[in-house]
Amino acid sequence: MTWLSDLMRPALQKLKPYTNARKEANGFVPDIAIDGNEFPWPPFGTKLPLNRYPDPQPENLLGKIAALWNLHKDTILISRGADEGIDLLIRLFCREGIDQIVICPPTYGVYKVAAEIQGAEVLKVPLTSGHQLDVEGILNVCTPNTKLVFIPSPNAPMGHFMRREDIFRLCEARAEKSLIVIDETYVEFAPEPSGLLPDLTEYPNLVVLRTLSKAHALAGERIGFVIGQPELIQNLLKIHASYPLTQTSIRAALDALSPCGLILGKERRKIIVNERKRMAELLPKSSLIDSVFPSETNFLLAKTKDSAEVMRKLQSFGILARNRDSEIPGAVRFSIGTPEENALVLKALDIAVEDASPPLRLFSARRQTKETSIGVTVNLDDPGFLRIDTGIGFFDHMLEQVAIHGGFGLGLDCKGDLKVDMHHSIEDCGLALGEALKGALGDKRGIGRYGFTTALDEALAQATIDLSGRPYSVFDGKLPTPLCGQFPCEMTEHFFQSFAVALGASIHIAMQGDNSHHMVEAAFKAVGRALRQAFKREGTALPSSKGVL
Ligand code: PMP
Repeated sequence: MTWLSDLMRPALQKLKPYTNARKEANGFVPDIAIDGNEFPWPPFGTKLPLNRYPDPQPENLLGKIAALWNLHKDTILISRGADEGIDLLIRLFCREGIDQIVICPPTYGVYKVAAEIQGAEVLKVPLTSGHQLDVEGILNVCTPNTKLVFIPSPNAPMGHFMRREDIFRLCEARAEKSLIVIDETYVEFAPEPSGLLPDLTEYPNLVVLRTLSKAHALAGERIGFVIGQPELIQNLLKIHASYPLTQTSIRAALDALSPCGLILGKERRKIIVNERKRMAELLPKSSLIDSVFPSETNFLLAKTKDSAEVMRKLQSFGILARNRDSEIPGAVRFSIGTPEENALVLKALDIAVEDASPPLRLFSARRQTKETSIGVTVNLDDPGFLRIDTGIGFFDHMLEQVAIHGGFGLGLDCKGDLKVDMHHSIEDCGLALGEALKGALGDKRGIGRYGFTTALDEALAQATIDLSGRPYSVFDGKLPTPLCGQFPCEMTEHFFQSFAVALGASIHIAMQGDNSHHMVEAAFKAVGRALRQAFKREGTALPSSKGVL
């Protein structure tokens, strides 16, 4: 018996868990699966194999999370949101009428309700007047039956971090007696590095909850994580539902954690954090709002003079915030929305703001065929990221030229049928990149329509681009060799054709020179430079006499 199993409900210590069809297969991947009484055809309207039971804990998702957060896979349980993690922990450890949990109000409401459903007692030790943990108070209320201490950090509903030293002191003082559960639902909105994942090895009774609901935009798919000692994870798996995750939630999580999904998430979080800072300055300008609590999350808790009046004003603009008056008198919680949504919140509260800057031109596209699977993320207003992986070194280098000289951020990930040849990958990357840039351009207000010439030693390339919405491509130039490294030179023209079609642009390219590598590179650079000019916003007018582009 270990200290951890001693803490568990005795009835569960010897529980023999249900083993489902997938678990009994022991990793064997059959050609024909007749072990699960499943329907042999997928249902209407989907490409996913929804007729099949999902993997209870998919290895590829565990692997992605382990790599992202620098963990071992056996320390991770994938749950249906952080909420299910809370529930599972309470069910594993708390006996009805005997065991207890500790919460520190004001705090997240689910800890108490989940404990009450299980029949566990809830010990409350409010935060100090400085809104930090009352460590002595917590230690004083603990009994031998106090199994779990739940602490959100960043805190909900206020949004600030709990002091790390306090958490570690609790871990030490309650070693082998209680699990200290740190709920890091909002941690990704804080500057890195943050969070307690690196400290799990030092404190065996520390448990961290994480989720894809907030920073990874997947609240609707219910994916969260309990992270702790392997022994804890094994025992939680014993009481987990037989197929807890759905095929769609697994797919969505893998997409969100793909290279381009991660880039999109990070770029969007930057917007949220900037908006949170802006809103924190502006909200107190309302005569109804006294102050805003410091927050490292995607929400702000405001102390208002009259929370009902604030809610009423917002509702008259069709806006619903969260009234937290019952927990903190006068408090209203504002989730940070898009810049446009936030502007409306300010307007509803009669807060005057200067004209908002135009929306960031950030866009992601996904292209999936039998031949290629491509993710692209572009940000025309932030060249701060570049991550290209098509499996074709020379082509990666050329796409880099377009992004660097185009002055935009580019993430592009392509898994293509390179065993056939490079054709599909190069062509489809042109289509996907064009589609993403077109999406990012939006209504095209304020943009230019330009051209550029670049020289590379003896080679000269000229690119003229018109983002007219009418695809057309002209390519003039003869490359002296059939290959640049492994890259087929004829694919240069084909790439720009595909790109022009998907972007909705006329692209004219003319090249001359003696060295294919120089000529192709000069062409990609010239296209990048022409795009940089074309993407640049100069005012808000549409550069067209037609009124549409
Ligand atoms: N913990 C805290 C502090 C929360 O605010 C929330 C969501 N409101 C959760 C956990 C639940 O997150 P999930 O969507 O992953 O269940």
